[in-house]
Amino acid sequence: MTDSHYDIIIVGGGVVGLAIALEITKRFPRLRLLLLEKEDRVGQHQSGHNSGVIHSGIYYKPGSLKAKLCVEGARAMIQFCGAHRIPHQVCGKVIVATQQEEFPRLEELRRRSEANGLTGVQSIGPEQLREIEPHASGLRALVVPSTGITDYAAVCAKYAELIVVQGGTVLTSTAVTGLRRLPGEVVVETSGPACSTTYLINCAGLFSDRISRMAGEEPDVIIVPFRGEYYDLIPERSSLVRALIYPVPDPQFPFLGVHFTRRISGTVDAGPNAVLAFRREGYRSSDFNLHDLASSLAFPGFWRMAAKHWRSGLDEFYRSFSKLAFVRALQRLVPEVRGDDLVPGGSGVRAQALKRDGALVDDFQFVPSGKMLHVLNVPSPAATASLMIARTIVDTASTNWAWSS
Ligand SMILES: Cc1cc2nc3c(=O)[nH]c(=O)nc-3n(C[C@H](O)[C@H](O)[C@H](O)COP(=O)(O)OP(=O)(O)OC[C@H]3O[C@@H](n4cnc5c(N)ncnc54)[C@H](O)[C@@H]3O)c2cc1C
Repeated sequence: MTDSHYDIIIVGGGVVGLAIALEITKRFPRLRLLLLEKEDRVGQHQSGHNSGVIHSGIYYKPGSLKAKLCVEGARAMIQFCGAHRIPHQVCGKVIVATQQEEFPRLEELRRRSEANGLTGVQSIGPEQLREIEPHASGLRALVVPSTGITDYAAVCAKYAELIVVQGGTVLTSTAVTGLRRLPGEVVVETSGPACSTTYLINCAGLFSDRISRMAGEEPDVIIVPFRGEYYDLIPERSSLVRALIYPVPDPQFPFLGVHFTRRISGTVDAGPNAVLAFRREGYRSSDFNLHDLASSLAFPGFWRMAAKHWRSGLDEFYRSFSKLAFVRALQRLVPEVRGDDLVPGGSGVRAQALKRDGALVDDFQFVPSGKMLHVLNVPSPAATASLMIARTIVDTASTNWAWSS
């Protein structure tokens, strides 16, 4: 074995790949670990372009990985931020029903909160809502006190720092370009020198399906990129929102609907919507990549998904181009908000796995294959849950691969 041979290589320096590397260096310090990231810094894609919310776990189907790992992960994230002085705040949130038809779904969320072990969730009426969020309007709401906010780019930077302190290597500006399985090892071709590894964990986010294909797999999903665009409330109007104000989500759709989020920096943003992106890392509506778009369109599941969700998809596109429509969606939650109160903010692109039958994969999905493991679906709340996702994956890997500490 040479200097360029590692026991384990992790592809992708987002919050998930970094959390896994951190867990491995902590529990198995003798393993030689390398994390490869194509950008010049870690946390530059989904992990650095998200809403910064430490989700409570209220939304997820009881018994799912999302439910379990989010509830435990939120506690772990708050503890991690506290221990490492990363700005965070447990500010709570309200989920607001603005129409009677939403009451059964709100009640279902309350039931889920109990089943998932959340404490302190309360159903309230319009007056109590106004005490908590004076500018919000709704017929009924749920108060979720355990929701928090943080800065996941700072979390990623801290994970990377600790990996190095614990003996791992984080190599940025190095893209994985090819994988070759040989007996007993995998050769990893990169934009720099090639290296080899005994084990490989693929955490490439928006490109995780492509990395898995590079490894010779035929995953039954593809990653479809959904861009989420934000507006920022101008500072003079940020007092319209104290903490987090969310609508009741549509259970047919894996996204939460446009909402108001107070960031840890003190600014308030509104969004994100969810529009199909024509490029996997396409942060602007004009971004386009023929290969990315063609691979979505060529996948049979894409057209089945389009047939099922075309109406909500068109609404989202309309909101993407019409500020007025975006503002109208927000006014359902905070009627006083006006177009002039909002200026264009950032955007993020979600990696959403899509099955051949057109279903959007709801739960987290990790696929072990020989000496590799592919993390194929870790959408929201994966930043919140990252430490627990890492624990679960490292438990599986260390059992399957008989690692000893
Ligand atoms: C708009 C938006 C809002 C969200 N809000 C929240 C929220 O409030 N709370 C929450 O918990 N979650 C939220 N999420 C979800 C959360 O951000 C993601 O689930 C999480 O960041 C996924 O992390 P990741 O490491 O899998 O992906 P990423 O952060 O995308 O990391 C993947 C990394 O792999 C690298 N990579 C790709 N290909 C290669 C290659 N060939 N070689 C080397 N490196 C490669 C990329 O450069 C990237 O850095 C949100 C997501 C979005 C997009």
